Amino acid sequence: MGGGQLARMMCLAAKAMGYKVAVLDPTPDCPCGQVADIEITAAYDDFDAAKKLASVSDVITYEFENVHFTALAQLENLAYLPQGSEVLKICQHRYLEKKKISEMGIRVADFKLIKNADDLNEIFSHEKNARQNENFFPCVIKTTTMGYDGKGQIVLRSREDLPRATELASKCECVLEKFVPFSKEISVLVARSTTGEVSVFPVAENIHVNNILHQTIVPARISAEVEREAISCAKKIAENLDAIGILAIEMFVVDEKIVVNEIAPRPHNSGHYSIDACVTSQFEQHVRAVCGLPLGATTLHTPVVMVNILGDHMDKNNLHNLAPYFSLFPRGKIHLYGKADAVDKRKMGHFNLLGNIDENLQLIYDSKIWEQK
Ligand code: AMP
Repeated sequence: MGGGQLARMMCLAAKAMGYKVAVLDPTPDCPCGQVADIEITAAYDDFDAAKKLASVSDVITYEFENVHFTALAQLENLAYLPQGSEVLKICQHRYLEKKKISEMGIRVADFKLIKNADDLNEIFSHEKNARQNENFFPCVIKTTTMGYDGKGQIVLRSREDLPRATELASKCECVLEKFVPFSKEISVLVARSTTGEVSVFPVAENIHVNNILHQTIVPARISAEVEREAISCAKKIAENLDAIGILAIEMFVVDEKIVVNEIAPRPHNSGHYSIDACVTSQFEQHVRAVCGLPLGATTLHTPVVMVNILGDHMDKNNLHNLAPYFSLFPRGKIHLYGKADAVDKRKMGHFNLLGNIDENLQLIYDSKIWEQK
C-alpha cells in the first residue's frame, strides 16, 4: 500500500529476493509502480482496488502511516497484513503515540492534548497560571494527525505566536509539547519479525534543515551510554507495541539522556544509509520481517553520510544530469526515485557517501550543491 520512494526501495529489495510485487497508489507511474510487477492506480479507500490487491498478494505491507486507517483495517480482513492495523492507529496519532511511549516508562517531551482553540486559550489565559504559562514557552504545537517534515506544526516562543497557534487549533485537534533543548537528533531503526526475532540498526545522527531531513551520519557522534539507552528504548518500544517490520524511532539527545520524539512504523529516510553501508538494508530487513524469514546482520561495514537530494538540489531541466554528482563524489552511491518533477522541497533521491565522515562532510560543503538559497 502506497507507491512512493519507500515502497520503491522495498520493492527493489523484495525483487532481489525473488518476490513479485503489486502496488496500490493513486498516482499513475508512481516511484514504486515503475519497478513493481503489478500497478493498481486507485484511491487508498477504493474498496474494489483493495480487494484486487488482496487477491494477488500473499503478504501486504504499507509504506507510510497516513494510509487511510479504515482502508487498511478493511484490507486486514481480506488478506495477510502481518503489521496489523493497531500499531498504525497509534503511530498515526501524535497524542496516542506519546501517551503510549510514556506509559512504557520512556521519556517524551511534556505534552497536552489540544482538542480545539478553547483548550489552547484555556492553557494560556488564566491569570493565576500566568507564571506557569510563561514557563511553557518555548513549546511546539503539532496537529495530531497527518503532519510530516514539519508540516502542521508551529514553534511558540512567546505570546506573540499564540494567534497562529490558535488558528491551527481551531482547524484540527493538536498536541502542545514543550520544546526540547536537544544537543542532537538521532534515530534507531529496529526490525521485529513475525517470529518475534528483533534486530537493531546502528544509531543514526540526523541533521534537519527547514524541518526536512538533510543528513544522516553513521556512526552517530554520541557517547556509548547514549547509544546503549537509545538501543534499549527502541527494543522496548518494538516489543511493547508487538510491532512487525521496521519501526523507526526518532529521538532527541538532551543532557546525555534520550527523549523520544516519534515513531514511524515503516522504513524511514534516516535508515537509507543502510542500503550501501550495512550488510542488510532496512528495506531487505523489512521484507524479511513481514515474510517471517530470519533477519539479516545489520553490521555497518563503512562509515557513511547520507544526504537527501531535494528538488532544490537538481538540474530541473535535466533530471538525469548526474555527471556533477559522480565527478564530485567518487565514493557516493546515488539513489533517485523516478519522480517526474523536481519541485522544491520534494525528496527526489539521496546520496550515500561512504568512508571517512569528516572528509565527506567537507566534500558536501565544497560542492555547494546543498547551499541554502
Ligand atoms: P516531527 O514532525 O515531530 O518529527 O518534528 C520535526 C522536527 O521538528 C524534529 O525533527 C525537530 O527538529 C523539531 N521538533 C519537533 N518537536 C520538537 C520539540 N518538542 N522540541 C524541539 N524540537 C522539536
